[in-house]
Order: sequence, then structure tokens, then C-alpha cells
Amino acid sequence: MSDLVLATRGAIDCDIHPALPGTAALLPYLDEHWHATVAMVLGGMARLELNSYPPNAPLTGRPDWRPSSGPVGGKAGSEIAMLQAQALDHFGLSLAICNCLYGAPAVYNPDLGAALCRAMNDWMAKEWLDRDARLRASIVVSPVDPEQAAAEIARCAAEKRFVQVMLLAMGELPLGRRAYWPIYREAERHGLPIGIHAGSMFRHAPTQSGYPSFLVEDYAAQSQAFATQLISFIAEGVFVKFPTLKLVLLESGVSWLPAMMWRFGKDWRGTRTEVPWVKELPASIVREHVRLTIQPFDGPPDAADLQRVIEQIGSDDMLLFSTDYPHWQFDGDEVLPRGLPERLLQKILVDNALATYPRLTETAS
Ligand code: ZN
Repeated sequence: MSDLVLATRGAIDCDIHPALPGTAALLPYLDEHWHATVAMVLGGMARLELNSYPPNAPLTGRPDWRPSSGPVGGKAGSEIAMLQAQALDHFGLSLAICNCLYGAPAVYNPDLGAALCRAMNDWMAKEWLDRDARLRASIVVSPVDPEQAAAEIARCAAEKRFVQVMLLAMGELPLGRRAYWPIYREAERHGLPIGIHAGSMFRHAPTQSGYPSFLVEDYAAQSQAFATQLISFIAEGVFVKFPTLKLVLLESGVSWLPAMMWRFGKDWRGTRTEVPWVKELPASIVREHVRLTIQPFDGPPDAADLQRVIEQIGSDDMLLFSTDYPHWQFDGDEVLPRGLPERLLQKILVDNALATYPRLTETAS
């Protein structure tokens, strides 16, 4: 066992991806009413995949983490035995939060989207959480109808192994807008952070300047979407209305954050009369309410340079350990960036997650 893997013993993984094999897997969890609709509307879409994560793209599944069947191996993350062996056991994880990425939240029909999300959550509880005591999960909701999303949060909140509500980084509107506040009201009521994961509902171009030609442009531009959502949450006053709400940026990268905080702070000083409810420097609000998972870690490889990025982030409480399994963000066991300050390791691996997700403490055995 390598020193790198020894370092992660007992860690809490805040971003892993069990994969739904296809829409057919949801049928046992859907009311009869929806079976005909799924057959009619989704007849040619047995796999309702998010275009952000083409199943056969190398990024979507590390080669040694893919099942052997299928065109380039089977769907990465679809087999629990592999996830247990390669992520939970291999890295010695104490807990791991499942974020299932599938197209249900992007369906236009608000009732069908809500029904598919309900089915996904029930599928997650039965097929994953019930089969390994180390697993926790995010509640998947469709933001197309925020009131139905809030109702789904309330329904799932009775199950303490659901520890977060997950939304995608790119949707129909900036996520701070008041239309979405029923989601945040319900999340805060149940002590559930909002996790924003990389990915798009493809209502708009995935860059600020139009449609790119290549997948790599879409993926590299995701950090712009995270910055937009963060600015929206603060400018709209979400954290004023919901003062205990936490926001977790999942698979966002981290190195863009200091520059964004500087620019937002500078511009806020000159425009703050427009948003009088923003009474603090935006960077202070970010440090109090926002957390980020560490894979993909897009910081500099040199330890001294890395220390400077950590200092610029300006808080030891913000980074959360993640493998992003089975996404291909690192090779071998290099899941932790080299050169992290010793004082930060325990916080990143365990303590920050426990402080961010109160339900982890409630449900830990
Ligand atoms: Zn992820």
C-alpha cells in the first residue's frame, strides 16, 4: 500500500458517482402512470445521459475503473462491487457521498422530470445506500419546478442518509434567482447543503460566448459557470435570506476562486448601493458559506506555488476531500495534491466535511 493511500485512511469522500445504467432501471421506482409516458417520450432515449458526461469519453471513466463489457468498457460507476473495491476499500474511506449524474433534472416536462428524480432518489436508497453502510447521497431534484423540488427534498429528508441537495452548474437561470428559493428554504430547514455539480441542462451555450466546437472547451469552461452561480447567490441575497445555508461546489476546481473573489470584491465596492443586503466583502461571505471538493485539483504542481493558492483562498475550512470516482482526474493514487500543508490534511480529509454536512455526524455509526 502506498504512502498516498495510507494518508487517506478514514477520509470522507464528498464526490463519487454511482452511475444509473439507463432509464429502464428507474421503471420499478416509477408509478404506473409514468411507464407509458417514458415509453412514448423517452422511447428512443434508453439512456438519458447528460451531454456534459458522454459515457465513453475518457474523462467520464478512468480506464482501470471501467467494467470490462461495453464499447470501451461498460458504464463507469455502474457496478457497486467495483466502487467498493476501487474507491471505498482502496482509499480506506469512512464515508462517501454519492452524486448521481443523469439527465432527469434536464427534462423539460416538469412533472416527468420530477417523477424521474423521485425514482432516482428511491433507486439510490435501495440499490446503493442499503448495500453499503459507508454510502451517503445527494437528493437529485429538477429545478424546472422549484415547488416540486422542495416537496421532493421534504420527502427525502426523512431518510438521514441523504445529506445534500444537488443541482447542476448550468441551468435555465442563475441559481440565486428568487424563483429557486423554495429549494433553499427546504434545504436549510433540513440541514442540507446545496451541492452544485459540474454539468449543464443545455438550455444555453455552455460558455459565456456561445457554443464551442469541442467537449474540452465545455469542460474547461465549467469554472465560469461556477463563478456565475456563486456571484448570483451572493448578489441575490440567498445567504441573507437563508443564513445557515451552505453551498458546496462539486468538481469545480479551486484555483479560479481567489481571482474571482478579488474581482467581485473590487466591483462590489463601486456598485454596492444596488445590492444593499450585501453588507460584507463578498470574499467573507464565500469563506463562511461556500465549500469546494478538491478533484479536479487544478492548482500548480509546485508545493510552494500551491501554498500561495491555499493562502489566497484564505480559509482552512473550505476544501473537502473527493476522489470524483470514476471520473479520470488523476492517475494511480495521486488523489491528494502534493505539498498540502500538514495542518490542512486532517481538515480536508475529515473535519471540514463533518462541519459542512451535519447529517454525517447524525448518521455515522
Ligand atoms: Zn464529480
